Amino acid sequence: MPPKPPSAPASSDIAGVTLGELLGANYALVVRCVTCGHTGPADLLTAYRRHGAAADVAGLAERMRCSRCDGRGGTIVSISRPTGT
Ligand SMILES: [Zn+2]
Repeated sequence: MPPKPPSAPASSDIAGVTLGELLGANYALVVRCVTCGHTGPADLLTAYRRHGAAADVAGLAERMRCSRCDGRGGTIVSISRPTGT
């Protein structure tokens, strides 16, 4: 495992970032389904219950289920930073 970056993840740099870190920072993860093309925010809480806080975000998208077609497999479109505060 590569060392984790000391700062919050950027959308272009999610290597080594875990689901727990993403949730802790209140980031929103946008994923596009490879089956139907549906794009939307990933259900991070469901993923958290299913895969745990240590799940690698980079590998998570392809293990998520699409909310529209229930197909598995997706690609990360963006990670949006929390707004406000
Ligand atoms: Zn889909």
